Amino acid sequence: MAFSNVSIDGKRLLADLYRLRTFGTYKSGVHRPTYSAIDMQSRAWIAEQMHAAGLTVEIDGIGNIIGRGEGDGPRVLLGSHSDTQPYAGWLDGALGVMYGLEIARALGHGVDVVSWADEEGHYGAFPGSRSYIGDFPEAEIDAGRNRYDGTTMRDALAAAGLAGRPRAQHEPGRYVGYIEAHIEQGDELDSGGSKIGVVTSIVGIWAYRITFEGVQNHAGTTRMAIRKDAGLAAVKLIAAIDALFPTICAPRTVWTVGRITLDPGAGSIIPGGAEVIFQFRDADPTMLQKLETALEQLVAEADKGPCRAVLTNVSRSIPKVMDAGFQDALTRAAERHAPGLHHLMPSGAGHDAQQLARVMPAAMLFVPSIGGISHHWTEDTADADIVLGCQVMATAVAEILAGR
Ligand SMILES: [Zn+2]
Repeated sequence: MAFSNVSIDGKRLLADLYRLRTFGTYKSGVHRPTYSAIDMQSRAWIAEQMHAAGLTVEIDGIGNIIGRGEGDGPRVLLGSHSDTQPYAGWLDGALGVMYGLEIARALGHGVDVVSWADEEGHYGAFPGSRSYIGDFPEAEIDAGRNRYDGTTMRDALAAAGLAGRPRAQHEPGRYVGYIEAHIEQGDELDSGGSKIGVVTSIVGIWAYRITFEGVQNHAGTTRMAIRKDAGLAAVKLIAAIDALFPTICAPRTVWTVGRITLDPGAGSIIPGGAEVIFQFRDADPTMLQKLETALEQLVAEADKGPCRAVLTNVSRSIPKVMDAGFQDALTRAAERHAPGLHHLMPSGAGHDAQQLARVMPAAMLFVPSIGGISHHWTEDTADADIVLGCQVMATAVAEILAGR
């Protein structure tokens, strides 16, 4: 396979990323919530840069920014998101959008660039990319509320000047596929001295609510032998999960108790109720099913007493396998620019690429996160690693386009 010798401009890429970082600066990170004034200012700036790169730009009715190149011929869609978690990092999302822009400039053809709206889920689950693939109905916009301050999605869209605009829709056949670069957000690359992660799949997330019903009573007068302590039952179940799951899970399986709520939650009252918010993630659907069956058995066991235990599934997302041909192209490009310093890995975090993978071939490339830190203002990646990742992606995109 002959490589075309595309060269990105690392200084220009870094300058753009540093400029984008000034929209909503918080310490060394960024606070740029979806549809806020600063988010819309940053979107206008991104649109200007796309326009200057020769793309025809649209900010659509859900806030997606799409820059389309001229001409026929094969083309890829590159991008990520530019909204951020609250008071969080400067590269989560921004990196992939600016990679797309830089590669569009470096190649000069065959690249459209996108910044998906609200990947961080202020108003919904992947509103931007799901709207684009035709899976975010008006009713879901009607129901959308800001998870932090309760603002309705309709009001937020109106305040952002987006109400009434058409929503961009996927045009079947327009793209060879979608490629998204992102910081890893874990420490696998950084701790292993690797520079590039080529993503094999994006994990499925299965989430549950487990409720316990006991008897609320006086913490001083109720003998231990007759208590029905819902809080104790909840904690025992969590310990049982943590004992059983390691014996049946895969190497990259993860599980998390994100919240425990006791009712009423007072120092001198035996909890009459408890709720546990629980999730696990894996890239293999068979493993997800196996873990669910194990969880059902543990909850059934807990339900035998002294408290009632009820398991409710909240959501099940299906793992998304990344395109094999794109993985190969990214791996070849990584071997060329960072010999031996790349590997295949699953993504433990959700990304817009999992939505795009439903309608076209999709792939992802990871660069190292220093110390594995993300969703925090100290999130960072070395400048040299940022530039290297973009060059690898540019080379892969050139090869993919040349092969069509
Ligand atoms: Zn992200």
